[in-house]
Amino acid sequence: MSETSAASRAVPSDPVAGSPVYPAGSRVNEAGHLEIGGCDIVDVAREFGTPAYIYAPDDIRARARAYVDGLAALGEPAGSAEVLYASKAAPVTAIYEICREEGLSVDVASGGELTMALRAGFEGEHIYLHGNNKSEAELRLAIDAGVGTIVIDSLDEVERLERLLERPQRVLIRLTPGIKPSTHSYIQTGQLDSKFGFGLAHGVAAAAAERIAAIPQLELVGVHAHIGSQIFELEPFERAAEALAGFCAEHLPDPEIVDLGGGLGIAYAGADEPPSIAGYVGAKLAAVRRHFGPGPRLLLEPGRSLVGNAGLTVYEVGTVKEIPGVRTYAAVDGGMSDNLRPMLYGSAYEALLANRASERAPADSPITVAGMHCESGDILIRDAALPRPRPGDLLTIPATGAYGHAMANNYNGVPRPPVIFCSAGEARVVVRRESWEDLVSRDV
Ligand code: PLP
Repeated sequence: MSETSAASRAVPSDPVAGSPVYPAGSRVNEAGHLEIGGCDIVDVAREFGTPAYIYAPDDIRARARAYVDGLAALGEPAGSAEVLYASKAAPVTAIYEICREEGLSVDVASGGELTMALRAGFEGEHIYLHGNNKSEAELRLAIDAGVGTIVIDSLDEVERLERLLERPQRVLIRLTPGIKPSTHSYIQTGQLDSKFGFGLAHGVAAAAAERIAAIPQLELVGVHAHIGSQIFELEPFERAAEALAGFCAEHLPDPEIVDLGGGLGIAYAGADEPPSIAGYVGAKLAAVRRHFGPGPRLLLEPGRSLVGNAGLTVYEVGTVKEIPGVRTYAAVDGGMSDNLRPMLYGSAYEALLANRASERAPADSPITVAGMHCESGDILIRDAALPRPRPGDLLTIPATGAYGHAMANNYNGVPRPPVIFCSAGEARVVVRRESWEDLVSRDV
């Protein structure tokens, strides 16, 4: 069927408009094509090629505002909470810029993320440096850039900082409060058995706080805990605040800062119902006030919930292979090099054919969306509800805005896709596509 005849069919209900999986304002347009930020994705793919990461920057902005406004609505004095963009979710300079413009601070977890945050214009005082193994070079870069706060993760880091620092440095101590939220074990980070931070058990965190306090250059201003990511329940944050308060009562009375990390889940499927941003900030602030009183400033570190649903990936289908009585594979021109999450965590996604977006999928013949890499495990979606794809179709996977580009790699010598912003009908490249030439540009 031609695109025109697909378009002329009535769209019984737009599968995109209002779906929590897509950026706000997305729709299927009159041509039967997916439209993001007022841009027809078929045109965008034609102009910039595939695969490509596509973001609606207005949607990122709206989510950043929802955090800031959600806190403001709680009626606390200005400055009693601070929102940090956890930039590991999508380390794209243009996204750092949006977050800075919206008044957010930033959490960086490496020298590279710090470099991008600085390039995007963040002042040192608004930068928080994380990492369970910060190198001397990264710490030196942070100190030279005047990074406001370093989140200490290990005793070895304390020794490194003692050697490097010639002036006072504000630090937080990262604690693992022994809490396991219901999420994939790879993204649970608050349990005792974790590579991150200091456990509250056996006096480990207490000894670390004592060691930090003994170093004159280190000014311990608060505590940090990030218990995990893609969390739909709010109650674990209450328990985290309670555990941190117990620690502070004994070892850090009157902390200036309580940082409860990130973690708010997003919709990967239309039926997913994560808590709202307003509900989430309200729950965290209430937990801190309940267990610490009015004193400390609450820090929030959202990553996924700012960018995840604001971005999607568009691919071209290259081959379709039907194994009678078994399954049908549609192979796209990307895969585990641009989205590792299905392989790392078994994450499930939806898909849509951007050029046939108004066509209904038959109920009984799901499509397996395969990547183009030399691994049988390079499967992006096991059972996608799609009309039977054809070579040349543009297959879109929504909700790839977080930890997609961030974890992209060059497996099989595949160049990494560009990042494209779509807003008010204009598409612009903010990170260009890597070229084959780029892949040999570091050879010596
Ligand atoms: N803060 C820290 C320390 C993290 O490790 C992470 C992610 O793993 C985040 C914030 C962001 O979490 P999320 O993307 O779930 O909001």
